[in-house]
Amino acid sequence: MTDDCIFCQIVAGDIPSRTVYEDETVFAFLDVNPLAPGHTLVIPKEHHERLNDTPADVATDVYAALHELVPSVEAAVDAPASTVAFNNGEVAGQEVPHVHGHIVPRFEGDGGGPIHSLFGSQPDLADDELDRIAADIEAER
Ligand code: 5GP
Ligand code: ZN
Repeated sequence: MTDDCIFCQIVAGDIPSRTVYEDETVFAFLDVNPLAPGHTLVIPKEHHERLNDTPADVATDVYAALHELVPSVEAAVDAPASTVAFNNGEVAGQEVPHVHGHIVPRFEGDGGGPIHSLFGSQPDLADDELDRIAADIEAER
């Protein structure tokens, strides 16, 4: 628990939330400022800032809860689809520094777009650059 973290305070029950799921390691609740009805946040109970800081077992638990919750959230609001995403780091738009997955129900004609629409343009990467990037990612593991 980190005292000045809003999400740690929600897990502790110090800030009220509309809880939709809880187990030993994971907590899920409705977003207070929803992008769509049913917009749900899924978080580890332990404070970790980003996916990169989250231990593998905790990340596995968060993913398992997301996997279980996506169909329930969609069914509850009669949504045919959802966008499931993490803003992972401040530069990517993460505002609350306690790792969280968003489940945002999607509806025909809702005016939203795919994740690709977040980006105005795409870089023009040559084949050899792509080969190098792929090799570098593999080497970093
Ligand atoms: P981020 O931009 O960090 O990926 O998303 C943070 C999300 O947390 C936002 O969608 C915001 O509406 C939500 N949020 C921030 N404070 C609270 C709160 O006190 N309660 C709840 N339920 N959601 C919050
Ligand atoms: Zn926290």
